[in-house]
Amino acid sequence: MRLDYLRELEHCNLCEWRCGVNRLDGERGVCGIGIPEVAAAMLHPAPPASYTIFLAGCNFRCLNCQNWEIAHYPDTHETVRGFVDPGSMAEEALAAIRSLRGRLIGADRIFFSGGSPDPSLPFVEEVVREARRRDSGVKVNYDTNGFATEASLARVLAISTSITYDIKAYHDDVHRALTGAPVAPVLRNAAEIARNAPEKLWEFRFLVIPGITVNEVAPVAAFIADIDDELPFNLLAFRPNFVLERHPPAIQYLMEEAVREARSTGLVDVRVHGYPAVAGERPKERASPVRERGGELARSIAKRAGCPADFRDCGSCGLRQSCPIKRYRARRSV
Ligand code: SF4
Ligand code: SF4
Repeated sequence: MRLDYLRELEHCNLCEWRCGVNRLDGERGVCGIGIPEVAAAMLHPAPPASYTIFLAGCNFRCLNCQNWEIAHYPDTHETVRGFVDPGSMAEEALAAIRSLRGRLIGADRIFFSGGSPDPSLPFVEEVVREARRRDSGVKVNYDTNGFATEASLARVLAISTSITYDIKAYHDDVHRALTGAPVAPVLRNAAEIARNAPEKLWEFRFLVIPGITVNEVAPVAAFIADIDDELPFNLLAFRPNFVLERHPPAIQYLMEEAVREARSTGLVDVRVHGYPAVAGERPKERASPVRERGGELARSIAKRAGCPADFRDCGSCGLRQSCPIKRYRARRSV
């Protein structure tokens, strides 16, 4: 079995944390993983319908993480599938896409998600190479939080047919409080794709979290509209999860207001996904009247969960290998 494609993990600089650690020799960076490991893989109908490979590990520590069991692997002691030979992974994905069930759901590509696929980029490239050796036309979607280095982003663009791209906030204080990471690389990479490879952008995605990101909708939408007002923008409704397991969900009025705010910037392709069933009533006053409240609220929730940082920066944090957020266990899952 070839393993030479993993050699760059001896000095890992795949994402903007640029840890420089030897992941093949037991050292760990912010993502906490050594060799790339597959958490699970399955046919998945969420647009774009695909055979989705969920990779273990993540370079962010989002308070709202939907997949925290695999994002914070191995700290979670979750059972994952483990390292898979890229050739076998490619064959499995192609067979699933061609299967009756795959055709019924319209699966037409291999979708790399996580966690984050960034710490597993050499493995992703190898699976794509093996898949295209067998079927040169196979499509590939890359799902990202936008924290790749410029060099890694160029590699992502080289293999991807489509990219689903999360922008979690526009302002650095809110982004850091929510994810533990600075926003500048995320906006830089988003602009690079929007300006130079818009045909690869499936959509920008934004999660509407009451009191935390509601005031970020308009700035993120304006940032996108300034580049091209026809770029797709998908608003997702927050549901209580992980550290935010006791936080209120995004109710209908909030999503309607988010759509209005996004459209008011001139964006024409504004979508809503995961629309909440709860209609809800408009509160007498906005939950978060000023932007700073969003960052403050997220920071105070992170502190209650054990993160002592006033300025979350997981890459420079002395607690990053014994991180209370990575060790947080949600009491309920959705
Ligand atoms: S966090 Fe990023 S740079 Fe650090 S080890 Fe993981 S992938 Fe490499
Ligand atoms: S304790 Fe440190 S590593 Fe953990 S979330 Fe807070 S800032 Fe990040």
